[in-house]
Amino acid sequence: MKELTDRTALVTGGTSGIGLAIAEALAGAGANVMIDGFGETDACEALAKRLADAHGIKAAWTGADVSKPDQLAAAVDRAERELGPVDILVNNAGVQHVAPVEDFPVAQWDRIVAINLSSAFYATRLVLAGMKERGWGRIVSTASAHSLVASPYKSAYVAAKHGLVGFTKTVALEAAAQGVTVNCISPGYVWTPLVEKQIPDTMKARGLTREQVIEDVLLKAQPTKAFVTVEQVAAMALFLCSDAASQITGANISMDGGWTAQ
Ligand code: NAD
Repeated sequence: MKELTDRTALVTGGTSGIGLAIAEALAGAGANVMIDGFGETDACEALAKRLADAHGIKAAWTGADVSKPDQLAAAVDRAERELGPVDILVNNAGVQHVAPVEDFPVAQWDRIVAINLSSAFYATRLVLAGMKERGWGRIVSTASAHSLVASPYKSAYVAAKHGLVGFTKTVALEAAAQGVTVNCISPGYVWTPLVEKQIPDTMKARGLTREQVIEDVLLKAQPTKAFVTVEQVAAMALFLCSDAASQITGANISMDGGWTAQ
């Protein structure tokens, strides 16, 4: 039997990048997995089928918008009906917008805070009571190096990620005695569509070429001068779900090539 056999995980932002790698790692350890995220229906359903076939687990996809509490509630209901009680929640969905504060659109601020921060509350409040009752649970949120330090032009993202760490610490304390751990992983730059998409805006905001953004903005912050990989983040998430990590709670684990050590 694999370590997570008979556990069920809900992974938001599970259709792409870091979330998909985490879903793959959890499925590989035997967990049933519901991936939530946007994408073309056939392609997302094929992703879930691939996870189920490759790992011999149950998997499903939902396109719930995590910024909408009722859609998340429907996703949790469906996960519990089709796959089993949610023992592992991965709050990973995230979006970015890059602009100076004076020009930052209010709608973008609200969207980023809802998707990157409030969604963790919307989902946690639905699954925490069951985890406590069963005496076992894992909540892992993908924060960011931007939960510890700031960069210009990313005010909403930096504020939301700092907030996510505060939320994580609070829930960790509330659930500590019931076998539920609650942690953040804070990667530096990971090469995913989210990073790729912000390059044009950063070029515009700072008047740089694509190569300059990669070398002088993104990797400048990372002393190792290398992107973190999605597999490395997924391996950390999997570790946090293991029994070996049962005493790690309320933590914010940096995986940023030394960025925040500076
Ligand atoms: P990505 O763009 O590859 O994936 C984002 C995922 O979130 C997709 O599955 C997308 O469909 C989903 N999503 C977006 N809005 C959603 C919504 N409203 N409802 C449901 N799903 C939604 O990005 P990624 O780089 O894999 O990012 C994943 C997480 O990691 C984010 O929280 C991001 O802030 C964080 N992060 C990324 C990096 C990086 O360098 N890529 C670094 C630090 C932290």
